[in-house]
Amino acid sequence: MAIINSDLNLQSFYPADLEIYQIDETDDTIFIRMHSRSKSCTCHKCGTLLDKHHGSHHRTVQDLPILGKRVMLDMQIFDYECCSDTCKSFAATEAFDGFLSYNSRMTDRLEDFACLLAIETSCEASARIMRSMNVKISGDTIIRLLLKRYSKQPSEICGSIVGVDDFAFKKRQSYGTIIVDEITHRPVAVLEGRDGTTLKDWLKQNKHVTTVTRDRASAYAKAVEEILPDCMQIADRFHLHQNLMDAVNKVLGREIPATNAIPVESDISSGNGENLSTSLEEEGKKNRNDCG
Ligand SMILES: [Zn+2]
Repeated sequence: MAIINSDLNLQSFYPADLEIYQIDETDDTIFIRMHSRSKSCTCHKCGTLLDKHHGSHHRTVQDLPILGKRVMLDMQIFDYECCSDTCKSFAATEAFDGFLSYNSRMTDRLEDFACLLAIETSCEASARIMRSMNVKISGDTIIRLLLKRYSKQPSEICGSIVGVDDFAFKKRQSYGTIIVDEITHRPVAVLEGRDGTTLKDWLKQNKHVTTVTRDRASAYAKAVEEILPDCMQIADRFHLHQNLMDAVNKVLGREIPATNAIPVESDISSGNGENLSTSLEEEGKKNRNDCG
């Protein structure tokens, strides 16, 4: 049997600047007490590298649970003084890149897990699952986390060839318009409504667009025509295919009889084949008349 080294160094799961000095445990919670040893930090407002301590404070932060026990970090961390032209004697609380964001009450890895779970399920389902793992969190908190992350995302760069289509926020009640960069295949904007009004506003801000693929709805065609008259409009392949299939279906419905009799071998060998062809033609004419 392989020998397992049981020496688990908890400190290795935390930034080197956060030194663990005590661990306490109750029935359902592990308290990890640590203090900062940092010598500098970056101001979250102006980005200046700061090296002058202004003071320190306690912060309680929740981390990923350990074997079903809630993990709370009791942290003594520094405030740094920022004297830049932008901040002017501002006390900046330190953050730890990739571990703890400015003023956050949860570690980044716990937030990552909550958000990932919410995207795969829903905010409320994510909160329920996490509570079953002894993480203290609500669905509203997860919504706020997702919104915060969304607001920090850099805006998508939009190319000159875009696709426009509608979608339902809630079927038969509210609809939106999505714009996708056709080169990167990434969505670049989600707009309210599908009557073309919001698309016009968006096009006014994106006059570099030269080509738009769209569905058969006239609202988008008019919006593009009005704001970017020189823009090439292309009916997308899906809708061209849909048009073609509609036309083929109509022709087939009109030209092919509703029922077709299959000649049996005895009819053909006994010389009745000619009579059968005649009767099928008559049947076809009758069906065509029935179908209009
Ligand atoms: Zn600053």
